[in-house]
Amino acid sequence: MSFAPAQVPADVPAGFETGFQTGFAIRPGLVVEAAHADDVRTAVSDAAGRGLPVHVHATGHGLPGAVEGGVLISTRRMDSVQVDPVRRTARIGAGVTWGRVIEAAAPHGLAPLNGSSPGVGAVSYTLGGGLGVLAREFGYAADHVRALDVVTADGVLRHVSPDSEPDLFWALRGGGHRLGVVTGMEIGLVEAGRLYGGSIAFDGDGGHDGDGDRDGVTAAEVLHRYLEWTRTVPDALTSSLSALRFPDVPQMPEPMRGRYVISVRVAYTGSATEGERLVAPLRAIGPALADSLREMPYTDSHTIHSDPPFPHAYYGDSVVLGDLDAERAVRTLELTGPKAPMMTVVQLNHLGGALAVRPAVDNAVPYREAGFLLRLLSPLDGTDVASVRALYAEVAAVLAPLALGRSLNFSFGGGDRTDGFHDARTQKRLAGLVSRHDPASLFGGSYGISRDGR
Ligand SMILES: Cc1cc2nc3c(=O)[nH]c(=O)nc-3n(C[C@H](O)[C@H](O)[C@H](O)COP(=O)(O)OP(=O)(O)OC[C@H]3O[C@@H](n4cnc5c(N)ncnc54)[C@H](O)[C@@H]3O)c2cc1C
Repeated sequence: MSFAPAQVPADVPAGFETGFQTGFAIRPGLVVEAAHADDVRTAVSDAAGRGLPVHVHATGHGLPGAVEGGVLISTRRMDSVQVDPVRRTARIGAGVTWGRVIEAAAPHGLAPLNGSSPGVGAVSYTLGGGLGVLAREFGYAADHVRALDVVTADGVLRHVSPDSEPDLFWALRGGGHRLGVVTGMEIGLVEAGRLYGGSIAFDGDGGHDGDGDRDGVTAAEVLHRYLEWTRTVPDALTSSLSALRFPDVPQMPEPMRGRYVISVRVAYTGSATEGERLVAPLRAIGPALADSLREMPYTDSHTIHSDPPFPHAYYGDSVVLGDLDAERAVRTLELTGPKAPMMTVVQLNHLGGALAVRPAVDNAVPYREAGFLLRLLSPLDGTDVASVRALYAEVAAVLAPLALGRSLNFSFGGGDRTDGFHDARTQKRLAGLVSRHDPASLFGGSYGISRDGR
């Protein structure tokens, strides 16, 4: 373990240790670069003794907001991955990113339940549920956790399994980050050496190319056809839709640059022949700007969504939906599309399938009955959080009759709000566990469980 005094150079306004999310500064009093579980235990005990709040940081993708003071435990050095191909499990350290687990599992024809971006931290993603590339076939990442090791606020390192700590085993899988610092976990892997998938992108402006003809489809038409198509696909097919105005800058790929692009992203572990058959209705929607649907090794699964790999500033929120009708979906695109006051990326995940099925040993993942997840994300360059929130409130009002709650993993920068992350019953049980394990609110700055549901 190395202790580093947190000196913030005067000319770095973004702050210290920010990581992927650059929109919020982290200015702790002390940074602990933990290398082992024992380092974490020592740091938590020491902070508790001094009455200092504890924050945890792996990659910075999910930073809840600005952090001032207290002890920041960085887990980046805890990056071990051990795959057991016979048991089809991986033992991962707290600082491991999904990319490392994918690489270690692939030689055995196995894959973890990772999400769209290989740079995201595997542990925090899983504590928040974990909605992955193959989600409808295999369920949430949290459904595949076999055991965890966690340092609780009393400084005790606990091995958490269905037998040893049943309450914590329930809560840590989907309940968020407020119950302690997880130092490592054992996760199940699935057989997926390859898949059929990729994305198909349409010009959401209707294909206007300046010649006065309308030779494409509108975003609303793509959305209608996508919603109809989701009613027909098997559980083994996972998909999402995204809509955004690509900036008109040279860094953007030519067919997308400056256009309002609406894409459907697909992942399917069945045969390529069956995959081609299943996506035929998407290809029939209209002329595509780009079509990358193909057979691929699982190690290329990050190309399906092509999330930006570089650090930036963003705010994001989400609405978990029981179902979604075309009228409300189109109104959402109207509010967030090219005429919106700031650039907003809309993503719509098709849920259901295995996501609706509770694991044999139940966990705290909420809203199994949800049909869709609507995600909003806005870059914060030149835009203030208050304006973004005002727009998101308009979208939330449109979707309110169908809304079940919000998604913990897709709330970025709104650390003052924890309402809706869990249904009332789950929230009550989680709040009871927080009161029992962290009565002094040592981890009070972390996402996931509020004492009062606000
Ligand atoms: C580009 C991008 C793509 C994403 N894709 C997906 C996706 O496909 N599916 C999905 O479900 N989510 C996705 N997410 C959300 C992501 O899973 C969460 O933001 C997650 O919290 C990020 O974890 P991290 O370790 O990378 O980030 P960090 O910012 O380092 O951690 C986030 C928070 O988790 C807590 N935490 C971290 N480590 C620990 C620990 N060891 N013990 C206890 N608490 C801890 C801390 O409170 C910390 O503030 C994505 C996010 C981004 C930015």
